[in-house]
Amino acid sequence: MIPGPVEFEPAVMRAVGMATTSHVAPAFIEAFGHSLEMMREVWMSPSGQPFIIAGTGTLAMDMAGSNLTEPGDNVLVISTGYFGDRYAGLLKRYGADVTLLKAEVGDVVKVSAIEKELRKKRYRLLTFTHVDTSTAVRVDPEPIGMLGEKYGVLTILDGVCSVAGEELRQDEWNIDVAFTASQKAVGVPPGLALMVVSERAMEAWRNRKTPVGNYYCDWSNWLPVMRAYEERRPSYFGTPAVNLVAGLEVSLDIILKEGMERRIARHSNLAHEFRTAMHDLGLKMIPLNEDISASTLSAPWYPEGVDGTAFMKAISQSDVILAGGLLPELKDKYFRVGHMGSVTGGDILVTVASVRNALKSCGYSPGI
Ligand code: PMP
Repeated sequence: MIPGPVEFEPAVMRAVGMATTSHVAPAFIEAFGHSLEMMREVWMSPSGQPFIIAGTGTLAMDMAGSNLTEPGDNVLVISTGYFGDRYAGLLKRYGADVTLLKAEVGDVVKVSAIEKELRKKRYRLLTFTHVDTSTAVRVDPEPIGMLGEKYGVLTILDGVCSVAGEELRQDEWNIDVAFTASQKAVGVPPGLALMVVSERAMEAWRNRKTPVGNYYCDWSNWLPVMRAYEERRPSYFGTPAVNLVAGLEVSLDIILKEGMERRIARHSNLAHEFRTAMHDLGLKMIPLNEDISASTLSAPWYPEGVDGTAFMKAISQSDVILAGGLLPELKDKYFRVGHMGSVTGGDILVTVASVRNALKSCGYSPGI
């Protein structure tokens, strides 16, 4: 029950465990092409350009950032935690002039504050984290997409902890790039960077004045490959993660068979169930209210008197695996529980029981 890597479906693991084929074998070309097509449905972006690249979520951040910024560009980074801060550092490497709007821990940056900043100067790009895995805070992408449209600013959504677990309507919400990594709600072992890019962002990239400052990430290398596989033709730039792509096809198929609406509702219901149980135990959450609380993970504060190290030790002897805090300055003050992917109501019950027992063994007597 950590926020990634999550547990994977047996069918996905069987596909990943297949005998590795050539990346130009007909069955692999089909798996790759079909996965690209299914990504458009999961991202709800019928007009977007999908990319499947070997790498982690940070590579996806790098790819979106390096292709869409040029030295001297103004970039606005909205940060709701650790991964927003990471994006600010990353974009500076490509010569961007970064303005960081940072939320208080547990809160979001108000839309009015973002708009005020966009009025100050001509921005090329705005980035935000849909769900920051360090705080479990969820940002509403829709008004940010509207601002991007209004001010002619490209929008990048870090969806590593949200895609396939939180509602995302990329086209309808005018989000230019939405990326994730395979090991979270998409349900495939770590190693794939996945993104869908809008036509507007591809156009901006085509009109660049300077070359992309990262060779591996440059869309010039990858766009022909994605197009070829979708047309069921072999192609090559760098060897794809053949086994992971086989798993991706199976997982995306499982996701679409469940149906996006049902899947999002299941995540939301389970998250609500988990947090209600935590509140009943007297625990408070980092996100300040339910509206900005993620469905993919929760981050409860330890109650008064409970030592984080002792709690994590007690949990390690239970039936579940949880994650500690991630924000450097507060990491001993809270813990994190992932509830995404193929998680069930039974998983939530076992997790709640383990948390309750661990708290008890730390001397905390919950009011139940
Ligand atoms: N962004 C967010 C919101 C994340 O949760 C993570 C990983 N936990 C990343 C980016 C980076 O992904 P990776 O660890 O796969 O590089």
